[in-house]
Amino acid sequence: MTSDNRTDARPTGFGSGWMSGVLGVLLAGAGFGAVLCFRNWDVLTMVEAREHYASYLPLLRGIVHVVLVAGFLLGVMSVSLRTNKILGLMACLLVLAAALLGGSQAALGDRPGKPFYLGLDYFLLSLIITSAIFVPMERLFGRREQPIFRSGFGTDLTYFFISTLAVQVTTLLTLQPAMVLFAWADPYLAGVRRFVVALPWIVQFLMIMLTTDIVQYWVHRVLHSVPWLWKFHAVHHSTDAMDWLAGSRLHVVEQVGTRALTFIPVFLLGFHFVPMAAYVVFITFHATFIHANVRFTFGPLRWLLATPQFHHWHHAIEREAIDKNFAVHFPVLDLLFGTFYLPEKWPSGYGVHDQVPRGWLRQLVYPFMPKKDAASSQTPLVQVHE
Ligand SMILES: [Zn+2]
Ligand SMILES: [Zn+2]
Repeated sequence: MTSDNRTDARPTGFGSGWMSGVLGVLLAGAGFGAVLCFRNWDVLTMVEAREHYASYLPLLRGIVHVVLVAGFLLGVMSVSLRTNKILGLMACLLVLAAALLGGSQAALGDRPGKPFYLGLDYFLLSLIITSAIFVPMERLFGRREQPIFRSGFGTDLTYFFISTLAVQVTTLLTLQPAMVLFAWADPYLAGVRRFVVALPWIVQFLMIMLTTDIVQYWVHRVLHSVPWLWKFHAVHHSTDAMDWLAGSRLHVVEQVGTRALTFIPVFLLGFHFVPMAAYVVFITFHATFIHANVRFTFGPLRWLLATPQFHHWHHAIEREAIDKNFAVHFPVLDLLFGTFYLPEKWPSGYGVHDQVPRGWLRQLVYPFMPKKDAASSQTPLVQVHE
């Protein structure tokens, strides 16, 4: 490594200590979070996952140990290479804090019986897996030149953090409305459910995709058409950079409302657990992928399944792309309902005309605030680039 970049104000190239600093903070933060999970096992981990973790505890502790040591070493490397020591020091301090809390050998704070938990483990695992897949993918196959920590990154990471942390509440709010509101239908649906659950898993998987997407299509279209609902959805469209984290920007009302509505047909049809679980994994990956900053176009397959290019056009600033591509999985729905738009080129920019504020908290209250700009409430979909 060279020290040529040391005098540069904010160098990020190889040898500048930036990469080691960022990786150091990421590993040290993950290690610190894992130690918190050990110490508060009963409130910071998903109840369904606890027995799986318990059977691999020595391995988990070993991984956390390696992660903390690596985070510390990377932090030290960054401090020695970089003029700005903040990243490196942050990594070292996080490892120190983790060590003071017991490090990888921290005792399990297991006081069972608590009904509620926060998914800190879910956040850490989701962030590590998603960033490990998508950050290199965007570096190698990126469409636009943009930094990893582009504008709004912190806001979107906050969305990611809060929605994964609150996984128990959001899952409950997704499943309960259909279960409560349609409990009366149970006796009438036994025959249908017996038939559906006996179908091959792949057929059930495709049926789940199709039924949820038909609901999603119309919910999405209504979100674009009704001005007061648009304010919730405008938050999602307010990002001016598309990447693996941009899709996380969803107002909690939209997120919970859309999921609860899409779960209704799934509940009524009564699918098997395995295709349901496969669908949840698939949609987590796919929703991230269609927002990602990647240049794959998929040739004729793009007519079959929603691609990044298809969804990027949904976020586009071009007038001809307004109110297009509402489907999440199947572009054929947009073809069918006359809202399909997929030229060969890519959009020139992303964003909305509405004055959506920056930051998670301000965006949370934004839909409930009186509209300052009367004109934009009448034209919720006019999108212009900044
Ligand atoms: Zn939309
Ligand atoms: Zn989107």
